[in-house]
Parts: sequence; C-alpha cells; structure tokens
Amino acid sequence: MDHFLYRDGILHAEDVAIPEIAAKVGTPFYAYSAATLTRHINLFHEALDGMEHLVCFAVKSNSNLAVLKLLGDLGAGMDVVSGGEYRRAIAAGVPGNRIVFSGVGKTRDEMRLALTHGIRQFNLESEPEMLALSAVASEMGVTAPVTVRVNPDVDAKTHAKIATGKSENKFGIPIARAREVYGQIATMPGLKIVGIDVHIGSQLTDLEPFRQAYEKVAALTRQLREDGHEILRLDLGGGLGIPYERSNDAPPLPIEYGQVIRETVGDLGCEIEIEPGRLISGNAGIMVTGVIYVKQGEGRNFLIVDSAMNDLVRPAMYEAHHDIVPVIESAPGVEQERYDIVGPICETGDTFAKERDLAPLAAGDLVAFRSAGAYGAVMASEYNSRPLIPEVLVMGDQFAVIRARPTYEEMLERDTIPAWL
Ligand SMILES: *Cc1c(COP(=O)(O)O)cnc(C)c1O
Repeated sequence: MDHFLYRDGILHAEDVAIPEIAAKVGTPFYAYSAATLTRHINLFHEALDGMEHLVCFAVKSNSNLAVLKLLGDLGAGMDVVSGGEYRRAIAAGVPGNRIVFSGVGKTRDEMRLALTHGIRQFNLESEPEMLALSAVASEMGVTAPVTVRVNPDVDAKTHAKIATGKSENKFGIPIARAREVYGQIATMPGLKIVGIDVHIGSQLTDLEPFRQAYEKVAALTRQLREDGHEILRLDLGGGLGIPYERSNDAPPLPIEYGQVIRETVGDLGCEIEIEPGRLISGNAGIMVTGVIYVKQGEGRNFLIVDSAMNDLVRPAMYEAHHDIVPVIESAPGVEQERYDIVGPICETGDTFAKERDLAPLAAGDLVAFRSAGAYGAVMASEYNSRPLIPEVLVMGDQFAVIRARPTYEEMLERDTIPAWL
C-alpha cells in the first residue's frame, strides 16, 4: 500500500494534490511520500520483531539526503556502495556505526574515508580487496570490522542484469572457498571478522532463492564457528521485490520474508542485518510528467511526454513495467484509447510503455508513473542536455523541493573551454 490515492478524482501524494506540486515546480518531477517510506521501514521491523536486527537502507535505490534523513531518524542503518553514498549517509546524520560498505570495487580512498568517520562493517568481495583493506587499516593504526560476501550459487530468478548470486556473476567469493578465505583473514593485520554477508539479486518475487541462500549461510556459520571464528552478524542483503503491476500477483510480503529468515538463521544467535532498497523506496515515489503532444501514428497513437529515458531509465534498461495513470481520474465509462508512451529523446529506446489503454489524454494533461521511487532519480542523467528533474518530498499536507532542477546556466558552467582552443 502507498499513499498516492485519488481524492475527488485528483491524484494526491498524501494530503497534497499533484497538480498543486506541478504548478509550483513544473514537470517532470519525482514526488516521494514520507508516510510510505515510514510504513515500509516499519514493515521490516515487524517482520524481524524479536530478533536483534538492523535495517540498512540500500542508498543506491534513492540517495536523496532528505530521504536518508527521514529513514535514519527512524533508526535505519545505511548500505552504501561508494564514497559518495557514504558521504551522503553521514551528511544525512546517520552515524558511522550504522553504515555498512558493500560493493566489488572499494578503493583505498573510500576505505580510508570510512575508517576515518566510522563504519559498522566492510562487506569484502575479493582477496585483493582484503589485502588492500588490511594495508589501509594497518597504516592508520585501526581495526576494520569485516564480513565476506559469499556467493551461494543460487538462481534468484530475476532479470539477468540484477541477479548477483550465481557463480558466473562478479559478486562475492564462492561459498565453497569461504572457510579458506576466513582462515586467511584471521591472520591478516587490521581486520576483524564480525560476520557473513550475502546478497543474491534485486526484484526477487519468490522466497525460495532466499531460503536456499540463507540455509547455505546458516551451514557456513556453524562451520566457521567450529573453525574458531566469531560470527556475530549475518548481513542477508536486500532484493525483496515489489508489485510494479497492480494487476499481477503480488510478490511475497516482508512478514513472509521475515519468516524465512527466522526459519533458516533464527537459531544462530546472530544479529540480523538486511539491506532492502527497492521495497522501501520503490512504491514510495512517483514520477509526474506532462503530455507535450498526442501524435496519431499508423495503427497507434503516441503520447509524447516531457520526461524521457534519461529521467527514468528502467523501462529502456531492464524492460521494466511502470503503471502509468492520469493525474485527473477519467470519468467512469469513458472509452479508452491505446497509446505508446514515449519521451522526446532521439532513440527508439526512449519508450516507456507500449499499447497502454488510458482514457483519452490531450496536450497539457498530467500523468504519473507509479513505483518510481527506487532506481529512478538516482539513475538519471543529463542525456540530450536535459536538466535533472526535481525531487519533492511530501509529508501530510506539506511538501518541499528536496532537489531543485538545475538551471541551464548551472549545467553549462560545469564545462570548460580550454584557453588554447
Ligand atoms: C542493490 C543492492 C541492495 C538493494 O537491493 P534492492 O533490490 O533494492 O532491495 C542491497 N545490497 C546490495 C549489496 C546491493 O547491491
């Protein structure tokens, strides 16, 4: 459930009418609902109730400082994958001891940054990375808390570009080699083992791959303890999917996911960390766009809107589906028209959706893309020299621009023409 509902035929974000935001900031824009973000964090707390746990929001799904501050104030930790995301988490007021550092290519500078300002743990993904972190921590005279991300070789049954838990993927260390690797780490200066990490992919709509992965992690926990390692925490990653299409079967609920965690690793006495991104931010955001033209094509109509693949790349990149709804609800019984919904960019890939049935729309009308709060604004670019679109946060009857649309001057100022040219 989210808080984007029609009231008197007008789409609202919580208590704010979408056309009111559009009049203030112009289109296109992202709008996030604070109540929805809050609700989603609380669903995970309920799911893990009774188990010591930390919900580390995957910053890569939505890294706006206001979103991070809201979630951080609710007690969330943060899962970061770059120095930039780490800086955002700190700037949003999240203490270092609630930040976990993931990612296959952490640089020495990023390691130094996190060790300087505080870190809960590094999730290590390769032997060269262990050597680098050991060297950096030793140089600084500190001890880095670490887990190893193990690759459990399970099929997450999700889109190939976001599956990460098969042996052919670039992520983690094969679970069969984990004992040897933990043995190595135990002898390395500057590193302290605190647990095990796993993350098998994103937008999972089936619990079975989680169960398989977590069973393997449970067995590994027992083995590593027998080998004399202290396994205090299990970081079980993110990846629980969300319903992008209302008409489809709903993916499992956080409470059901929590049950899988309980059944597989609940008896190990470990603190549980999870790293959900999409489930928290995805349905907490919409992208609102204006219709520029309705173009009659051969056998189909094109709805040409003022947002494009650079603003929301998921359809072009992952063949992703977003429900698209009019901001002004159509009268009941109106005959629908079939549209291809496209942006203005000069590529055929700039197509958001094909053959969608919507009540007739005209230039100037507003439509909203649902489920756009995760991997939306964060993946935007300025392709075609289109300014990044603003982000707005709604809480009750208030709203604020939490990232402004840059001016064209600001965009051009970032380039430099060399004096010798
Ligand atoms: C992407 C990612 C996540 C978040 O995945 P969601 O599908 O958004 O929940 C969590 N942990 C790691 C390591 C990731 O790479």
